[in-house]
Amino acid sequence: MVLLLVATLTYAQQNTDQSKFRQLGTELPTPNTYRTASGAPGESYWQQRVDYDIKVELDDEKQKIKGTEMITYFNNSPHPLTYLWLQLDQNVVHPESDTYKTATNKLGERVSAGQLNGMLDNSFDGGHKIEYVKDGTGKALKFTIVKTMMRVDLPTPLIAKTGKIQLQIGWSYNINDRQNPALGADSRGGYELFPEDGNYLYTITQWFPRLAVYDDYNGWQHKQFLGQGEFTLPFGNYTVAITVPSDHIIAATGALQNAKEVLTADQIKRFEEAKTATKPVVIVTQAEATEKEKTKAKDKKTWVYKAENVRDFAFGSSRKFIWDAMGVKIEGSPVPTVMAMSYYPKEANPLYGHLSTEAVAHTLRVYSKHTIPYPYPVAISVEASNGMEYPMICFNYGRPEKDGTYSDRIKYGMLGVIIHEVGHNFFPMIVNSDERQWTWMDEGLNSFCQFLAEQEWDRSFPSNGGQARNIVGYMKADKEVQNPIMTNSESIIRFGPNAYTKPATALNILRETVMGRELFDFAFREYARRWAFKHPTPYDLFRTMEDASGVDLDWYWRGWFFTTDNVDISLDAVTEFRMDTKNPEIEKPLASKKSKEQLERDVTFQNNKRDLATTAVERNEALKDFYNSYDPNAPAPTDRERYEKYLASLSPKEKAIIEANKSYYQLDLSNQGGLVMPLIIKFEFEDGTSETQRIPAEIWRLNDKKISKVFAFAKPVKQVILDPQEETADVNTENNYYPRRPIPSRFEVFKQEGFTRGASMGSNPMQQAQQQKKAGSN
Ligand SMILES: [Zn+2]
Repeated sequence: MVLLLVATLTYAQQNTDQSKFRQLGTELPTPNTYRTASGAPGESYWQQRVDYDIKVELDDEKQKIKGTEMITYFNNSPHPLTYLWLQLDQNVVHPESDTYKTATNKLGERVSAGQLNGMLDNSFDGGHKIEYVKDGTGKALKFTIVKTMMRVDLPTPLIAKTGKIQLQIGWSYNINDRQNPALGADSRGGYELFPEDGNYLYTITQWFPRLAVYDDYNGWQHKQFLGQGEFTLPFGNYTVAITVPSDHIIAATGALQNAKEVLTADQIKRFEEAKTATKPVVIVTQAEATEKEKTKAKDKKTWVYKAENVRDFAFGSSRKFIWDAMGVKIEGSPVPTVMAMSYYPKEANPLYGHLSTEAVAHTLRVYSKHTIPYPYPVAISVEASNGMEYPMICFNYGRPEKDGTYSDRIKYGMLGVIIHEVGHNFFPMIVNSDERQWTWMDEGLNSFCQFLAEQEWDRSFPSNGGQARNIVGYMKADKEVQNPIMTNSESIIRFGPNAYTKPATALNILRETVMGRELFDFAFREYARRWAFKHPTPYDLFRTMEDASGVDLDWYWRGWFFTTDNVDISLDAVTEFRMDTKNPEIEKPLASKKSKEQLERDVTFQNNKRDLATTAVERNEALKDFYNSYDPNAPAPTDRERYEKYLASLSPKEKAIIEANKSYYQLDLSNQGGLVMPLIIKFEFEDGTSETQRIPAEIWRLNDKKISKVFAFAKPVKQVILDPQEETADVNTENNYYPRRPIPSRFEVFKQEGFTRGASMGSNPMQQAQQQKKAGSN
């Protein structure tokens, strides 16, 4: 049997050490008894514990915080400790802060006063003012403040494994204006003044001296806080008593212990109703909150909270708060009813009253399905014109216009941010990764789950992360503005795409394209289960995802997380092959047709047809002989005989291949972007049908630059398309079609006359619709 098909032999041109499929080696730490090669905590895994008993008072007149805390520190580590490190995050807005000093900036031709202020003003008297540090018995301890960190020296070493010590610290600080560009972004919390009614809304975060993490892979994590790398903290139990003006409502981490002392009988009754309600129940109404805005209480109330097994504590406080709640049942949760709750000023209505608590509940349900059941008694969304997360509580943006209308950008932005910030309960509040080192460990994993939750909220939710095509712009950008995902939090150049969108997209591609949903979901849940209430590293994630799924992903982690390569697979050529059947009845007419076609193409033949009326043999029949009518491609009797003999020599299998009479296509592909990826190839046939084949990335294992592969079909192919659903983040789809097709582009024709740009500026579709309705034009 002679086939025209020739298998293309591809030779590995590179030495195996350079293969994109080599196992991760030096990139991973050596497994040990704390962290195993499977990605699970090892038999000697340990982590520190720290409990807090805090009393704090909020001064609404001077915008100050003053507090005392009793810290109980448990040394579970196998090492004696001679000092402890604490975080003083408020020092990020200290006048001498490195954040101010190391911020780079430039003056353009036009700079607003606000921008200039943001660059140069460090006059705010911010930062933790430490009053004292004492041991449990009241004996003063020596402490040294190192910018945003504080070392407390212990008179005797805290013994390994069973050591326990109490510290008492007194402190205060001035609360910053959260909306001041010089202060707001880095301090995460602060106050907002509402000039129309003269009231403040406080979000009190990163507010008490907090023990740093001491662990098996960092020792002390006391890297300075510059603003980007959030924080990492040990787990423990909290009792916090917060004293505020008596007309304030507090939203806080944990369960309220003294409802009868701080809430009215009506509020308590409404709260009880909310537990079994199927939609949010308003506990403090807008009318009640608006009434309170008019006066300022002189007396005070103390709200007491307890929170177990959390890594931090935050709260919001204002007399402006409207408050609603709804009970949520989470299958498998140790808490029978989780209270999804929202607190917001009237300025956030109608959006927050309508959607916030529902979004909280939705987030808990979807995330619990994909990770572990939500284990805490409350989950709170506070409207505070920014976005930041703490255990059980987060602060979110999303404020409508004064007339109550809002744009789709505000609506979906608000839903996205609530899902995102509530979602942070899972990463990093429960699966407690080190944010100061790896932003993507919480932001990326959380943005991925956010995408899942958004798509379960609404099929057409305009999600930012997750969809492969949305990361293309970043991944094809200049390499100078890109870092690998595995870059320290403070050194990331483009924070959003690098630490949020790219890892989220990378995980979604694993789920939809590389591993499939079933294997991915099982492995991802296993990672969350293994590391819930523990401190995972990226390597524990990488290892667990492989260990639980049975899919070798080393090539994927290396390409997507350790490099800035992108995906650009080019379909360079498609060559059609046909098998020589040896059947003279088929092959000879074909050959005859081909030679006639060739003659017809010939330029001299064509021009002579035009220019010569006749040729010599046409003019004179006598010049002709046998060969003027002989067709070398006409089947001869001997051909038939030879073919019968040939058929008799074939095995049944060989005969079947020949009789199938298929069309064969060789696809030549090249890897232009660097990342090896699965091939998703759609074949569109001439009869209008199509077929998609999915080929694992390992097709690139012998040559990661150029490969060829043959496909056979019973019907002719018209078009071949690579990655037809845009699921691989291919940065150049122009070379994904064979034959190539024109790149779609759209011209926008601006009509000069009668076109007034900005005629509808400042209004949103909702507002326009309402105005139209009012005008009766509808
Ligand atoms: Zn986040």
